[in-house]
Amino acid sequence: MQVIVTIDALRAARAAYGPLGLVPTMGYLHAGHLSLVAQARQENGATAVSIFVNPTQFGPREDFARYPRDMERDLHLLAEANVDLVFAPTVSTMYPEGFGTYVVLPSADEVLEGSARPDHFRGVATVVCKLLNIVQPTRAYFGQKDAQQTVVVRQMIRDLNLPTSIVVAPTMREADGLALSSRNTYLSAEQRTTAPVLYQALDTARQRYAAGERAGEALRQTIRAVLSSAPLVSPEYVSVADPLTLRELVTVGREGALLSLAARLGSVRLIDNLLLEPMA
Ligand code: AMP
Repeated sequence: MQVIVTIDALRAARAAYGPLGLVPTMGYLHAGHLSLVAQARQENGATAVSIFVNPTQFGPREDFARYPRDMERDLHLLAEANVDLVFAPTVSTMYPEGFGTYVVLPSADEVLEGSARPDHFRGVATVVCKLLNIVQPTRAYFGQKDAQQTVVVRQMIRDLNLPTSIVVAPTMREADGLALSSRNTYLSAEQRTTAPVLYQALDTARQRYAAGERAGEALRQTIRAVLSSAPLVSPEYVSVADPLTLRELVTVGREGALLSLAARLGSVRLIDNLLLEPMA
């Protein structure tokens, strides 16, 4: 496994490979990341993983400085997973003095994570665009866990004619339903015990959908009601939206829906979602 920190060295190493799968991450790897790596390995001749905690996607009052990092452990896990290339640039390599070009999708800032986190998707789209330009992967792998991120990246790839295909992989969960996240390490023991209520709330709405409920507001209300049973949890938003446009739905139709939420447990902010699949 080659571990590369500069753009020139990455370009030189990349030339030795044909079809390449890239898994962009912010490190502190868990089984969710590794499931993307495993899928990338199956579908490409070679696999690259980037590790970069991207400052431009964090707001001024967010957790960039304290975001968990453990490069040694990450490299060990990636070597075990038979990754070929790791790209781990510094902040000044990705954003040198005088950096001034951003990729902006105004519509992303109007809903869900975009409206809760101003400039978040400007940072995500910019860094993913840069990583795709640097690594030039055949396919890039993203988790359904960050549902709006997949919508943003898909649109950017299409709008900017980038020659990479996006692959979206399912959310990996703990046995009790909690979606794996690097941020779960922030949870106290008490908060960790409560955190599966996020998934339970989404799953309860899915059950109501399976039982025939189609009203968006009734499904949102179901999610809110389950969350309100957990006093440690403060919901930020609860959404039943069109899976492509992410606009809130009055009625769930044949296109299915994305059930999603963000909630705080103390100072820890978690997100989760479930897709109600389109009907045949
Ligand atoms: P991050 O390091 O949090 O930026 O995540 C890197 C990639 O892993 C993103 O595409 C995430 O959506 C994906 N990911 C994060 N958590 C999970 C999970 N629990 N299951 C599957 N993919 C995940």
